[in-house]
Amino acid sequence: MDVFAALKPRRKTRVVNVGGMGIGGDDPIRVQTMTNTDTLDTVATVAQIKACVQAGTELIRLTTPTPKHAQALGSIREMLLADGIFVPLIADIHFLPAAAFEALKWADKIRLNPGNLLDGKIFRVLEFNDASYAKEIERIEENLLPFIEAVKKSGKALRIGCNHGSLSDRILSRFGDTSFGMVESTMEYLRIFKKHEFNDIVVALKASDPLIMIESNRLLIDTMDKEGMDYPIHLGVTEAGNGEEGRAKSTLGIGTLLLEGIGDTIRVSLTEDPVKEIPTCYGILQATHRRITRTEFISCPSCGRTLFDIEPVTNIIKERMGHLKGLRVAVMGCIVNGLGEMADADYGYVGGAHGQVSLYRKKELVKRNVPEKEAVDELINLIKSDGLWIEEKEV
Ligand code: SF4
Repeated sequence: MDVFAALKPRRKTRVVNVGGMGIGGDDPIRVQTMTNTDTLDTVATVAQIKACVQAGTELIRLTTPTPKHAQALGSIREMLLADGIFVPLIADIHFLPAAAFEALKWADKIRLNPGNLLDGKIFRVLEFNDASYAKEIERIEENLLPFIEAVKKSGKALRIGCNHGSLSDRILSRFGDTSFGMVESTMEYLRIFKKHEFNDIVVALKASDPLIMIESNRLLIDTMDKEGMDYPIHLGVTEAGNGEEGRAKSTLGIGTLLLEGIGDTIRVSLTEDPVKEIPTCYGILQATHRRITRTEFISCPSCGRTLFDIEPVTNIIKERMGHLKGLRVAVMGCIVNGLGEMADADYGYVGGAHGQVSLYRKKELVKRNVPEKEAVDELINLIKSDGLWIEEKEV
């Protein structure tokens, strides 16, 4: 079966240009992360950005709480450029409008959090009727107007990013702690920017619980579609944790939506060095078939029928062939279920009699009973003879 034919089409979005990098449309789903250094410590921040770029990040977000932090982005960019590194910089603004204005000079994209920027959160319960609530929206629009004018002139992009944990007292009082509240908090801003003809926006709704994150994004898409908005979506499970737990939650939240065709850029948020987030991002994109960047491996869990040590061989094959983007390679313990299970693979390494391996091209048996010690090299020779081998440095 052609898995790509079974894949739900990606939701159509506009392309938002972030420092020369497109997010949305038919552009690849972008991988991003965020530094965890003090942005004012430009040396440490540049070192971390370099490591993240080396690992494959395509955009990087930096915490920018004050105008001074925003200015530091200018120095950071200069230092990166001096070393030949260009990566779009995203300023993460929460509370201070002055920081947002300053960031327009130095960043490629500005992230605004509607829950924090023009509203407060001290867990007050506020009373609204429809008229008084409408007045609040007018207040927000009035306060946003100078920034909307400035961002239009700057040519920079925005991310409107709402987090479940930072809904304002106003939103909580009106809509409760709900997915609908998260969506409305975001939509209020989107409607204002759209009304004033600024549309270079990427939207993000994040929660630490993947189920809330999934539900709120589905509702957001539904609402945006009804209101004629095609903004690209940034996906992430925020505060996902670390280790297996953080990766499992992120994979569930991000992967589910990607399979539904939702998502134009992703971040896996881990309580770890940001460099470690990036392989998981690419792993999720590969597993959902949304962005293929390496060899696809199929390997069986092995059982009593396996007559060779499958785990180390699988690791060796992954190490030597992991760079063959788009190729599918199967490592199977035996032929009993093996051939059927690996039917989609381009090449198969299948256990035979004790210490012997058979090699397949698609379903065709090409070499029978190759001694195990020679079998990995023989498989590489087979791929080479088919003209599909690429040296790793060429990739
Ligand atoms: S392919 Fe063969 S060795 Fe692997 S799990 Fe299935 S039956 Fe066992």
